[in-house]
Amino acid sequence: MTHKINERDFDIPRLHENKFRDFRGRIGIFTINLMFTSLINQLSTPTASCSNEIVPQQQTMQVNQPLQKLYAEVVVNIPLNKTFHYSIPPHLRDNLTAGMRVKIPFGNKITTGFCVGFTDTPSPYQIKDIINVIDKTPLADDVMLRITKWLSSHYYCGWGEAINAVIPPVARRSVKEKEALFVTPCDALTQLDQQTLSQLKTRAPKQAKVLEFFSENFREIGANELIQISGCKMPGLRQLERKGFLAIQKKPQHDVDTSCDFGPLQQHLTFTGEQQNAFDVINKKLIALYTSNWITPALTTPQSPPSQGGEGGGLLHEGEGREINISDGKNDALPCDVTHKHGVILLHGITGSGKTEVYLQSIAKVLEQGRKAIFLVPEISLTSQTIQRIKARFNNVAILHSHLQGTFHYSQWIDIKENKVDIVIGARSSIFAPLKNVGLVIIDEEHENTYKQENNPRYNARDVAILRATYENAMVILGTATPSLETYYHATLGNYEKIVLSRRIGNQQLPPIEIVDMSEEVRKRRGHHIISQRLGYYMNQALSRNEQVILFLNRRGFAPYLHCKRCGFVLKCRKCDIPMTFHKKLNTALCHYCHAEAPPLESCPDCMTGNINYRGFGTEKIEDEIIAKFPQYKILRMDSDTMRARNAHEKALTAFERGDVQILLGTQMIAKGLDFPNVTLVGVISADTILNLPDFRASERTFQLISQVAGRTGRGSKGGRVVVQSFNPRHYSITYAAAHDYEGFAKKELEYRKQLNYPPFGKLARIVFRSRTEDKAKEKSSIVTEKLKEIAKTIGNQLEILGPSPAPVMKINDMFRWHLLLRAQNHNSIHDALQGISDMLKPSKSVQAIVDVDPYMML
Ligand code: ADP
Ligand code: ZN
Repeated sequence: MTHKINERDFDIPRLHENKFRDFRGRIGIFTINLMFTSLINQLSTPTASCSNEIVPQQQTMQVNQPLQKLYAEVVVNIPLNKTFHYSIPPHLRDNLTAGMRVKIPFGNKITTGFCVGFTDTPSPYQIKDIINVIDKTPLADDVMLRITKWLSSHYYCGWGEAINAVIPPVARRSVKEKEALFVTPCDALTQLDQQTLSQLKTRAPKQAKVLEFFSENFREIGANELIQISGCKMPGLRQLERKGFLAIQKKPQHDVDTSCDFGPLQQHLTFTGEQQNAFDVINKKLIALYTSNWITPALTTPQSPPSQGGEGGGLLHEGEGREINISDGKNDALPCDVTHKHGVILLHGITGSGKTEVYLQSIAKVLEQGRKAIFLVPEISLTSQTIQRIKARFNNVAILHSHLQGTFHYSQWIDIKENKVDIVIGARSSIFAPLKNVGLVIIDEEHENTYKQENNPRYNARDVAILRATYENAMVILGTATPSLETYYHATLGNYEKIVLSRRIGNQQLPPIEIVDMSEEVRKRRGHHIISQRLGYYMNQALSRNEQVILFLNRRGFAPYLHCKRCGFVLKCRKCDIPMTFHKKLNTALCHYCHAEAPPLESCPDCMTGNINYRGFGTEKIEDEIIAKFPQYKILRMDSDTMRARNAHEKALTAFERGDVQILLGTQMIAKGLDFPNVTLVGVISADTILNLPDFRASERTFQLISQVAGRTGRGSKGGRVVVQSFNPRHYSITYAAAHDYEGFAKKELEYRKQLNYPPFGKLARIVFRSRTEDKAKEKSSIVTEKLKEIAKTIGNQLEILGPSPAPVMKINDMFRWHLLLRAQNHNSIHDALQGISDMLKPSKSVQAIVDVDPYMML
């Protein structure tokens, strides 16, 4: 079987699994594991020198009432869900608050831990003293402590690990504020005459470019950015400064926009009827939520039971209607089972229905109420249009660029913490932004996979958002044209309020979608053609009318297989069990998992005689094909190979918007958010890339992708159309997408999911066993499976175990991978099972077990 894998899928295991548990990636997995193994062995022997360990069930969470601070409860950054007791020397008692870091003796060394609470109950053991308190103010507040505690119990990782992952390294390092040079235009510029400018153009063209830039944009700009734009280096800028055209100053490098880039803030638009209705519902709910005290009790008085269910009840357990106290150890409320009934809205609006305007005016309302907002987007670099719209409306917007997982800019983090920011925009980790008084969390494109983190803690930001909102009595708006089935199902149960936007702005029609049967095409044309006759025909039509075309393919590179026609050999990565992709421009075969390179082959290394055939196609090959077929038009390819440079996205999209480019070809990078009225044709080169993945969400993702890509056209008065090419033209995910029938699709897909007890019905956890030796991974997975089967019997077969089997990608980076799936009716059974095998999951030298609760990645 061949696996067709999309680009995003390639990236994740390489980035995350390999840097197991240390998201800064500074220490390799083996050192960590060796360290942990020895440490854990030490700690679990009865005679261990460190007797500070307490079992999780005995934890007392009293972050709000620091009683008598005799003993501190401390967690450390290790993959063990344990809290340790330390006594606090009298001189440190006044300095220590929960959420601060402390230096502690741990095993036989000194390490850093997080204080998560206090107790005055003496321990039966002799316990050690805290050495020192590191922070002056807590890095994590009560809400963050509770969220991280939940992360550790739900996603099966250490509490210390979870805290470590949500507090960015910069905040922990107490870095000095970074300074940078900024350039501001001076008044002399306004008196600059053409003659001086043209003289300068001949003498110092780069300096002239700087002045031209400022005459178009009379605003402050970072020196580095200006140098990039103009090519004029620092000495040139200094010369212009001496002439009085500009001023150069050193300033803290804040990314927080205190004012709008485009002059005065833009006015809100006048709502359409549908938007107005949506907004009215949101507004009414907001006011009701803010004036209530439904949920907060669980936070402020952890011991007292929250108010009883029914109207006014806070957290509802799915199907039970009773409340759960979030603070109760293992039975922590789980947002996947539990809903924040009064505060979650599904804004189901078709593409182009004006969801953003509803978000913006909802934010304005929230700010009016003195509360703040978090706006989550699937990926910062791909959503520049949405971000620009927010920045044009509001002041005090912070954009958290987290190019590296979990790294925020220090000054921004501090600004947010110090209340200088009203709106935080960012990708998934921004749900942990230290914003106070959050009143609204918006999750745009809530169905996107990018909200799930693929390394520890493997959280889903959508679920964390709902949890956070319950703690802060805030509202969550989940916006999308294609709700995830989990969200949709909650809405049908009445756990979330659903608001529908069914019409496009200006009553534009959704574009007609034509499906082209590619097997038919092969028969008719006696061979494979990447571009069907139909798509080619519409492309010619659109381009000749000066309209623009978007082509979509979820696979980068030139050819995904190097294959011997004679003996069937396929060039695979030696370290990973996947075919290597040929990249023509680099003239290399690349492994998309580990980045290994191999020279391209001419003849088969196996049978020595056959010729090598470059099979299949990626965006690079399509680019060649388009250039050959449509030589008179300009094409731009957007994928992670061509978009490496900083700002490359923005530059590319600007060129497309200006019409410098007629054909935009790309991977999922171009699937969402783009709003260009002149695009009248979208072609999906192959709808099969995702459909063939061994993943129970394959149909859902195919439906979502076609709907999203189709949403990029028909947004202007010229209308639009979509052509979808597929070898499975009758698959329901494709036919429902072509009919713009979300409800139809969801109904059918839910039937399948129900039959197989997949989410949103059953809950899943996946365990991957990785080892350098295949037998060890296999053996360990069988032993664990046996144990799980025993456990399943004791809990009345509420639990199914699927597998063990080799993972679809059997080997990554020389590590063999076996996996198994736990499937149960609820999370409790899953957690009981994981608890029952916790000893077997401890890190060991030969096999690592990776637990993923509510997994998205099945490869
Ligand atoms: P969605 O996010 O639902 O796909 P957008 O928010 O991108 O839709 O809106 C589509 C287009 O309609 C945008 O260009 C937006 O500026 C415009 N728009 C939205 N609401 C209005 C309105 N009330 N009046 C006029 N134009 C609007
Ligand atoms: Zn590889």
